[in-house]
Amino acid sequence: MAFSLKSKDFSSPINKLLEEVAFLNRIEAMKCPVCSNSLSAFDAGSFTVDICKDGCAGIWLDKGELEKCNEHTDPFPQELLRVKKSLDVVIDRSKTRLCPSCEDQEMTRITLDAETNFEIDQCPTCKGHWLDVGELEHLRAKEKEEAEMSARIADFEKQVADKLSDPESAHKVKAFVTKLFR
Ligand SMILES: [Zn+2]
Ligand SMILES: [Zn+2]
Repeated sequence: MAFSLKSKDFSSPINKLLEEVAFLNRIEAMKCPVCSNSLSAFDAGSFTVDICKDGCAGIWLDKGELEKCNEHTDPFPQELLRVKKSLDVVIDRSKTRLCPSCEDQEMTRITLDAETNFEIDQCPTCKGHWLDVGELEHLRAKEKEEAEMSARIADFEKQVADKLSDPESAHKVKAFVTKLFR
């Protein structure tokens, strides 16, 4: 039986192995889009991220991992927030940034919060995200603030609902609201 490297017969175990080796090589060769340092894998518990250790301290997140980083219910690896940037590395946002995973794909800036003009890099092809040092911390603080705000609103709504279930209070609340919007 003859094997061809170009063969697209994925059922062949050899081709499967070659695919896997190519995949692992790609992971090993992942380069930082900011300072060209090699990225290192970091075990974040339920998923693995790639960080620019001893470089610009940026973080590469595959598709869907940004959402995982924002979950406040899971114990979050705090070391990930404490990766320090090397003093001699300069982060130049005006320079083109290539996706570390797709390699020749330029990343685009996406706005996460229009109010504060908070932007991060996203690869339009693989939908992964690149976070500069400090951006993950900022993101998590913002997310926490929003979660607390929604909890306060929910609590307020519950209080109003409780009041409305009591006929006497309901009358007062309605009178108050009517006055407010007259
Ligand atoms: Zn870097
Ligand atoms: Zn990509």
